[in-house]
Amino acid sequence: MTPPRVTPQQAWDEMALGNARFVSGGQQHPHQDAQRRGQLSDGQNPDTALFGCSDSRLAAEIIFDRGLGDLFVIRNMGHIVAESIVASLEFAVAELGCALIIVLAHDSCGAVKAAINLSTDSPAAMPPAVEQTLQPVLPAVQQVWLAENSDTPYVDPAKIDPDRAGRRHLQLTVNTLLHSSVILKDAVAAGKLGIVGLQYALDDGVVHPICAVGPLNIDDLGARNKQDSPRETT
Ligand SMILES: [Zn+2]
Repeated sequence: MTPPRVTPQQAWDEMALGNARFVSGGQQHPHQDAQRRGQLSDGQNPDTALFGCSDSRLAAEIIFDRGLGDLFVIRNMGHIVAESIVASLEFAVAELGCALIIVLAHDSCGAVKAAINLSTDSPAAMPPAVEQTLQPVLPAVQQVWLAENSDTPYVDPAKIDPDRAGRRHLQLTVNTLLHSSVILKDAVAAGKLGIVGLQYALDDGVVHPICAVGPLNIDDLGARNKQDSPRETT
């Protein structure tokens, strides 16, 4: 076990500042030179692990203005929790001493749109492995749909807000991580780990905090949820 070197709040503040630099165009591009590369050749000690969607517009180190050795990054389409994801995050927290996990969603997510398609009465065909992998996104789509449409369980893509479904899926992803790992749950309970769910806005580059657990004080937490029905907030 490696104890965290910083508090969850300190790790979050670094990430928030980095995103603010990216948004304003004031990037410092830290830790991207040969000196840093050499410093890291014997080991890594990142303070933040990031689990996000694979979308190419969501490059982790770029949007948080970080560099080599700063982030332990795990990504797949639609940030779907799987055993390999839980194992990687447990390694990041228990062995590398990460104090913060960021779960990174974004608006206009193709995985969420595909899950909406799968929730209609006539889904378009998609590769079997993709359809299977996206199953964990369907409960979020269904919850958002049924909150306002009780006449049919089949989703009309024209009548559902995909970004709202994405926020619900993000909240459920954070919940699933906690349910999937005693190591992560105990680290949060001990005050050593924070988990923040963020929805990234593709147009202006801002990360919007949607949910958080652990010892964290985050500005605007859940502000976007206020647009949603109370039934969708946690
Ligand atoms: Zn996505």
